[in-house]
Amino acid sequence: MTHWVLVPPHHRPPEALLTALASGRSRSDRLTHTEHLPARQARFSPWPANIRAEIVASARALGVDLPWAHQAEAMNLAKNGQTVVIATGTASGKSLGYLAPVLSDLLDGTEAPNGRGTTALYLAPTKALAADQRRRAAELAPDRVRPALYDGDTPPEEREWVRQYASYVLTNPDMLHRGILPGHARWSSFLKALKYVVIDECHSYRGVFGSHVAQVLRRLRRICARYGSEPVFLLASATTADPAATAERLTGLPAVAVTEDASPRGPLVFALWEPPLTENVGENGAPVRRTATAEAGYLLTDLVGAGTRTVVFVRSRRAAELVALQTQDQLGSPLAARVAAYRGGYLAEERRSLERDLHSGRLLGLASTSALELGVDVSGLDAVLIAGYPGTRASLWQQAGRAGREGQGALAMLIARDDPLDTYLVHHPEALFANPVEATVLDPDNPHILAPHLCAAAAELPLGESDLALFGPSTAQLLPVLEKRGLLRRRGANAWYWTRRERAADAVDLRGSGGSPVQIVEGSTGRLLGTVDAAAAHTTVHTGAVHLHQGRTYLVQSLNLETSVALVELADPPYTTAARDITSISILSTDTVVEWGEARLCFGSVEVVNQVVGYLRKRIATGEILGESKLDLPPRTLRTRAVWWTVTEDQLLDAEIPVDQLPGAAHAAEHASIGLLPLFATCDRWDIGGVSVPLHPDTQLPTVFVYDGHSGGAGFAERGFRRAEQWLTATRDAIAACECERGCPSCVQSPKCGNGNDPLDKAAAVRLLDVLLAGAPGQATAAGGGD
Ligand SMILES: [Zn+2]
Ligand SMILES: [Zn+2]
Repeated sequence: MTHWVLVPPHHRPPEALLTALASGRSRSDRLTHTEHLPARQARFSPWPANIRAEIVASARALGVDLPWAHQAEAMNLAKNGQTVVIATGTASGKSLGYLAPVLSDLLDGTEAPNGRGTTALYLAPTKALAADQRRRAAELAPDRVRPALYDGDTPPEEREWVRQYASYVLTNPDMLHRGILPGHARWSSFLKALKYVVIDECHSYRGVFGSHVAQVLRRLRRICARYGSEPVFLLASATTADPAATAERLTGLPAVAVTEDASPRGPLVFALWEPPLTENVGENGAPVRRTATAEAGYLLTDLVGAGTRTVVFVRSRRAAELVALQTQDQLGSPLAARVAAYRGGYLAEERRSLERDLHSGRLLGLASTSALELGVDVSGLDAVLIAGYPGTRASLWQQAGRAGREGQGALAMLIARDDPLDTYLVHHPEALFANPVEATVLDPDNPHILAPHLCAAAAELPLGESDLALFGPSTAQLLPVLEKRGLLRRRGANAWYWTRRERAADAVDLRGSGGSPVQIVEGSTGRLLGTVDAAAAHTTVHTGAVHLHQGRTYLVQSLNLETSVALVELADPPYTTAARDITSISILSTDTVVEWGEARLCFGSVEVVNQVVGYLRKRIATGEILGESKLDLPPRTLRTRAVWWTVTEDQLLDAEIPVDQLPGAAHAAEHASIGLLPLFATCDRWDIGGVSVPLHPDTQLPTVFVYDGHSGGAGFAERGFRRAEQWLTATRDAIAACECERGCPSCVQSPKCGNGNDPLDKAAAVRLLDVLLAGAPGQATAAGGGD
């Protein structure tokens, strides 16, 4: 049903759009916040004097007369030999900031007798990004600078040329780890002249992957030192909390951050929106909200009806199709024809025609997965709807940044999904618009990660006393262990050699997390769709699981643990699945303790034993339980890092939590805190786990644990420990603010609960967190911080 007439695409001020969307049908209370981001004027700086005239001339030819202030600042720091991380917004020209000094020095190097007096290495997380960078470098620098890609696709005959002649080599950390470092002798002339290492999109090096990359970079620095070079590291990052600290952890070198964005921006109205509660009933009778995608369908209907060019970002292809279908239904013809779904995997030609239609306004509404971020230019939209927080601020701003054309205002809107993090965000706009609190987290000291890199390093060049500091504090203890395992052999007083026949580097997959990954194979075609980490396989690809892969839905026919293969088929079941498990946890060592009054907050090592025992089938739209099946899987043991907190019996009395409410209170607090941790660390709730115990044998107290889901830890629990007060305060606020009565997916229910979200006690959880936080240092002086 629509009362709109066919209108040409036209621009309306974003405030007017928002007023129209929020009016009528009791919608006004769904708009939880409106942020007006004023236009920002560009600030320019002169070109640094030591950037070569040829580079300046090419930049001018490309339309850059003067660099923005932050670009010039980065150029100056780089030229001074300073490790620098540029952490400014999307489309703020970070690449020019590092490319100008790099290409300028490479150009100097072409005047050396061998034509390659200076070299630089560029690392990107994906091949596509590296290819894009090569193009940019070629645009800015004369041909004699010779940028070249070096990745798995580079033919062998070209590789030799790259090693001997290229001065700017663009590759990825995997290739550096497997190819360049083990074969460093063949790269000697390149490494001798290495002046810069560029690490692009460095916020993607997080968790286990980031920790591996950090050790690969230490190996690189060591090999460079051997060849007499000491490259300067230039990093580009999305805006995060404390980018300098992350850059230091990644490179092992002190870093300076450039964060003051001087690029121009059009005015943007950013709205936060919470869908209404529905009549539907979910797990344990909980109320459920309308899904973010359904709500996006309604809003898109209104926006397209008003002739507003809009893109909706959703999380899966299926959701993209649902939003488009729903909108088409609601609009009816002829407007329905001007709405489409974009599902990724399109040919270049199809993508271009989509772009054209969107720019011309023939297409008014597009529902898309974030695949759109790669390959289709959809800038200059009037409105962007983001159905569900995309996980990081970087992705959020990347998507919101598609809205707005020169000089004109635009609308961006985040529509909350039914989970604690989204709920918290739409009620706490400062978490999105003030200084970022989300940091890129990694933990290179994890011995599970460090050990194989020590082996790889020893294979590259025997390890000596002087290398211990480079690889971090765990190194000294780890070397004798590796020696005992027969992996390294000590000769002389302090030199360790790799003596085995196989290649040490082959023992590590940077993107895996240990254990052989389970392959996901389409049974009918034999096609390999992808892999999941061994650690996650029992919960995500058990027999009968509904598995989403690149936006498509599959049903797992069988999981074979011996061959590490999950056979799947495309399917369209009306339900999702949730594994049920039994978890126990024991404390191996307590490294740090902070007293919060009577309560204690700890960080240390734990052993988690987890067994997946069955799974639930839940109806997609409502979360209603359709049935439960048993599974016969062996228990898994994980040694990892955890943050945990305890409260005393007296505190429970103060908080008026009787014994029978304690399990539900602790469980609810655990769930919500797992949901909120991604606000402070770039993880998602699947990277971490939790256990709550009314009386834990190791502490003899009520204890709530949150642990890293990867062997040895990945830094997430540590970040939770360091920001515990803010994190647990946000957790408390998220639970307290939820309008449900007894707990729902927006606050304390968890989609990955192994216990069917039972028991959960929302009100007691708030009291429990209050009494815990009452003793926290920041609360001691704050008024009203509980008692
Ligand atoms: Zn709730
Ligand atoms: Zn649970």
